[in-house]
Formats: sequence, structure tokens, C-alpha cells
Amino acid sequence: MEFPDSHYARTLRERDEYAPLAGEIEVETLVIGGGLAGCATALDLAEHGHKVALIEANRIGWGASGRNGGFVSDGFPGGYPALVERAGLQDARELHRLTFQGNRKLRERIERYRIDCGPVQDGALRCNMAGQKQTLEEFCEFMATNFDTHYTHWPRARLRETLATERYGDAFFNPKTYAVQPLDLTLGLARACAAQGGQIFERTRALSLLTNKNRKEVRTPRGRIRADRIVITCGGYVDGLQRTISGATVPIATFVMVTEPLGERLRKAIKVPYAISDIKFATNYYRPLADGRLLWGGRVQAWQQSPRQLASGLKRDMASFYPDLAEARVAIAWGGMMPFTRHKLPVIGQVEPDLWYATGFGGLGLALTTTAGSLISAAIREGDETWRIFEQFGLPYAGGKLGKIPAQLVYWHHQLAAKFGHGKQL
Ligand SMILES: Cc1cc2nc3c(=O)[nH]c(=O)nc-3n(C[C@H](O)[C@H](O)[C@H](O)COP(=O)(O)OP(=O)(O)OC[C@H]3O[C@@H](n4cnc5c(N)ncnc54)[C@H](O)[C@@H]3O)c2cc1C
Repeated sequence: MEFPDSHYARTLRERDEYAPLAGEIEVETLVIGGGLAGCATALDLAEHGHKVALIEANRIGWGASGRNGGFVSDGFPGGYPALVERAGLQDARELHRLTFQGNRKLRERIERYRIDCGPVQDGALRCNMAGQKQTLEEFCEFMATNFDTHYTHWPRARLRETLATERYGDAFFNPKTYAVQPLDLTLGLARACAAQGGQIFERTRALSLLTNKNRKEVRTPRGRIRADRIVITCGGYVDGLQRTISGATVPIATFVMVTEPLGERLRKAIKVPYAISDIKFATNYYRPLADGRLLWGGRVQAWQQSPRQLASGLKRDMASFYPDLAEARVAIAWGGMMPFTRHKLPVIGQVEPDLWYATGFGGLGLALTTTAGSLISAAIREGDETWRIFEQFGLPYAGGKLGKIPAQLVYWHHQLAAKFGHGKQL
């Protein structure tokens, strides 16, 4: 199984491959799922000399981690005001600190391991739609007062000079968000893990788990792994692997396209190399690429679409913001599954002693997966209990794949709400 066709797969630089597991091995920790969550966990363990193996059913980065928009931000799925409401201000502050730590640690790893996933573009603009009563100034104040996090408010006039669209009101600038090529990033983390002694097996699906008090065992097509503990990081692709985790995961599809190189047309429409998004629930997000193409992502729905349908839908979205780009040719479009939970918050914990999970990163997995990997690794190695801040979110049953139907209904509700000026997510 190769990578799904995407701009990232076509321009791949990190090219290491790993043989499937054949035979039996024994490790301290087995990580199942080679996306960013699995690679971050395995790398953190390997960095500390722990005996770890990582198995991936397809290729490293084959799932959402190798297909996303590449925005590394420090947000929370559902937004900060909702997080404060749910967890209280003190815990929300701690969760924000942990996410931000993930954002920084990932950046350090890119540099330390010379991961070829650049050019890393700094800075993000989050934009309010035009005609809203509330400006984003209030949100900037909320973040400064409660989280000591300082964004720069951009009034409409400044935004209008920068982006040739009438559809936005104001915006805020976050200097700490950066954008990367995510497939190269995920493969680079795996390379770093292997270099520190982590064992990695691609094309090695966990077929069944045997977990009892003293023994954990996983069967794969051509092998068997015994481990003291297991970490499941299968994101929106977990299927039926483990009943509780599978039942709590609602995989939601979202989509990205990349245009042909647009040259001067792009420079006129978007004058900054930032990661740009709006604050609607089903956000539109985009960024100019170094070679003059535009990467545009958006839409969420319960099921995948054909690349052709995707390309025309996303192109319509782009043209509705930037009419001057309406004739731009789409070079490629693709989709992937984000893992959501019922309450839209990320979840980290144990289903039973020594059976760990980390999932529910939604559309904000790039930084949060590093946070999750560090927390689980510290818990395993030294009994650190920081991960317990996530216990309050539990692992609520969401119907698994069946949960997609209500999720689609919620999305339609948000689409309608957005039309009438509600449905924001900050
Ligand atoms: C189109 C798109 C755009 C996005 N844009 C952004 C963005 O700009 N910024 C951001 O922060 N987030 C974004 N996200 C979300 C982000 O990509 C995810 O939250 C994150 O990658 C989830 O990582 P993961 O490791 O949990 O899951 P995945 O990357 O999906 O990895 C799970 C892996 O588990 C493997 N697996 C499944 N079952 C088994 C098994 N039985 N045995 C072995 N392996 C198995 C799968 O093959 C897969 O590779 C986007 C997502 C999508 C789809």
C-alpha cells in the first residue's frame, strides 16, 4: 500500500521505508498507528532509551498526518471559550500551556533532526467573516487576560490591504503558528525514532489484541509482538481494533487541494506567506506554497468524496473568496479522516492498566499529537501524572462509525448557523 496521491506524496523528500514485521519480537512498549501521535510517542520513548516498536498498517504518515493542511498552531478543537466553559479557567490554562509546549517541541525536533519538511513558514491570520457584530479585538483581549497569549489585532483596513477579498471583517495575527509539509514531517519523526533504536514496521496491521493483566500481545499478518504495554494511536482509521476506543472515535473527512503555480495572480490576491483561516466551524484554511501554488483546505463531512468532486467544490470555495483566482487550475485534491470525539476534545488515557490511547485531535493534531506523545512517554517511563488533566474528558461512547450520521447533521446545522452569522470557533 503506497501513499494516497497528494501534493505531499508527489513532492516527498523524506524517503525512508521500513520492512513489515516477520516473526516474533518482544518490547517494553508497542505503539500501534504510525501517524503523528504514534511517531511522537515512539520517538519520545526512544529518545529516553526505552525499548519501543511502532507498527503501521500502511506507510508512516499514510493517514491524516500525511495529508493535512500543515498548520502547526496551539489551538484546541472546539475553541478556547468552550474549553474554559468545560474545564474551568485553571485547567484550560494548563491545557493551553501543554499544547503550546507541543508546538515548540515539534519545532525543536524539526531543527534537531534536520527534518526536511520546509520551508517552515511562520505566522497565521485567523479571520472573522464580514458583517459580524463582534470584532476579534475582544478575543485578543480574552487570550491576553486569561492565557497571557498575545495576538495582534488586524482591523479590516489592514486585512483588506493584504488579502484581496471582501469576505472578511477583521483578523488576528498569531506569530507562533507555522506551516510545514506534514508527510515529510511525519516520516522525519519516524526516521529520528529509528535512529535512536525504535523499531518501526510498515505494512504491519495489528489484527487482534490480547490484553490481560500480565501480558499484552498483538497479532499481525506475519508476526506477533509481546509487550509490557500498548499505546493505540490509530486516529480516524481505528476501525474495530479496540471496542472502547473505536466506539469513542468519530472519523470525519476533510479535504485539501493544491493549484497549479499562480505566479503574479497569487501575489496580488494574497500578499503574505501566512497560514490563513476563518473562524467558522467548518473553517476554510489556505496558504501560499513556496513555488507559487495555493494550498486550500476546507469542508468537513462524514464521508469521503471523489477527487473530482472535491476539486470542483474547493475551487468554488476559493473563487468565492478570491474571484480573481476563479480560473486557476487545480493540480490535485485529496481528503483524509480526522479523529473526533463526542465532545470534540482530544483524549489521552488508559482503557485498562497499560493499554493507552491518544486520539480526538480533530483538525488541530499537529501540535497536540506531540503533547500527547510526551505525556504518555513521561507517564510510562517515570510515572508522571500530568496526562491526568485529560481524565476529565473521559472517552465517551460516540457510536464509532455510526456516530458519523449525527456528526453530519451537526455539520449541516453549523453550516446553516454560519450562514446566519453564528457557528464560530476560536
Ligand atoms: C485534510 C486534513 C487537513 C488537516 N489540516 C490540519 C492542519 O492544518 N493542522 C492541524 O493541526 N491538523 C490538521 N488536520 C488534523 C490532523 O492531521 C490530525 O488530527 C492528526 O494528523 C491525527 O494524527 P493521528 O496520528 O492521531 O492519526 P493518523 O495520522 O490518521 O494516523 C493513524 C494511523 O494509524 C494507522 N492504523 C490504523 N489502524 C491500524 C492498525 N490496526 N494497525 C496498525 N496501524 C493502524 C493508519 O494507517 C494511520 O496511518 C487535518 C486533517 C485532515 C484529514
